[in-house]
Amino acid sequence: MTVLDSGDRSTGDDPLVTSGRPQLEAIVDLDAIAHNVGVLREHAGDAALMTVVKADAYNHGVVAVARTALAAGADQLGVTTVAEGLELRAAGIDAPVLAWLHTVDADYAAAIVAGIEIGVSSPRHLAAVVAAAQAVGSPAVVTVKIDTGLNRNGVAPDEWDTMVDALAAAVADGAIRLHGAFTHLAHADEPHHPVIDRQKQRFDDALAQLRRRGLEPDVVHAANSAATLTRPDLRYDMVRPGIALYGLTPVPELGDFGLRPAMNLRARVALVKHVAEGEGVSYGHIWVAPKDTTVALLPMGYADGLPRLLSQKFEVQLGGKRRRAIGRVCMDQVVVELGPDADGVVEGDTAYVFGNGDHGEPNALAWAEELGTIHYEIVCGIRGRTTRTYAGGGQ
Ligand SMILES: *Cc1c(COP(=O)(O)O)cnc(C)c1O
Repeated sequence: MTVLDSGDRSTGDDPLVTSGRPQLEAIVDLDAIAHNVGVLREHAGDAALMTVVKADAYNHGVVAVARTALAAGADQLGVTTVAEGLELRAAGIDAPVLAWLHTVDADYAAAIVAGIEIGVSSPRHLAAVVAAAQAVGSPAVVTVKIDTGLNRNGVAPDEWDTMVDALAAAVADGAIRLHGAFTHLAHADEPHHPVIDRQKQRFDDALAQLRRRGLEPDVVHAANSAATLTRPDLRYDMVRPGIALYGLTPVPELGDFGLRPAMNLRARVALVKHVAEGEGVSYGHIWVAPKDTTVALLPMGYADGLPRLLSQKFEVQLGGKRRRAIGRVCMDQVVVELGPDADGVVEGDTAYVFGNGDHGEPNALAWAEELGTIHYEIVCGIRGRTTRTYAGGGQ
């Protein structure tokens, strides 16, 4: 995705001003990010707030989102890799950053030098971190990730005893400071699922074992967005939400929690044309005009993150109404039907593809539900020729 610096063009809070705007644009509303931090702060109670900005802030732009979240009251940032942490540091962001997924040979020395906290998930990873700390000559700040039943990242149960010994030895050597301990839930989006309680029990047992060895992490955390919003008993010292920061509800059955979607995807009409009765539209002619009609061509396709599986299965808001997509989604383009007289839609108009609903457009959740996936994948998938711009945030 191309990114325009906010100074490059007006961010167009006026929806009527469309000319000169990119033909396909993901407007990231930083005021929405700040608002969502407020919602999450409220649900966090006394717990600290780590906002998760991995994967380029779920494809919203990590530097702008991180700055906005911190200014709005987030305490820390969570990322996946050391490289993601270094990107924050290179941008001058000096807030606490935790990075939690690494190959054994990751560049831990760079993380230590940059003051990035390292999540460790096995005695092998810990040994590599200790070696890097010794090479650099300063201790690593470490958070141990405990696998309590997700069976993905985190220290496996059969390695936990060894890990506790290794942590104790590394602390005694002064190679690391054990700053945190955390776990991640498998069923957080089903707030009453019994596995959540089983994971909590295993987590508490593991924490007790650390304490028995004299290891007392400063910060214990478990809750992603769903748990932050639905399970106050899992707050511990800090919550660790991601998707809710971007305004998408982690538990759609329970509503939107007052969150505001931050990504607003818009496409400008490239062409308006008549299609005669009996003519097929787009590859394979899966749609044939039942009568004379008019269509609008949008410059957006699967190369830009509009899934081909959404062919004929989504709507956009255009000219004050919902318009149905017809025919196949192609690599670069898709067609929507306007009706017999184009309904006042002209070339250059803006189609509101998904976003916060202010213009009557769908939520990214509509795409996800149609596809049988989650909205995380939809917003992370927007790419290609989409231009990312920012709105709000005092810009
Ligand atoms: C991605 C991630 C989160 C955030 O999850 P959401 O469901 O987006 O809130 C929290 N913790 C870990 C370990 C993660 O990988």
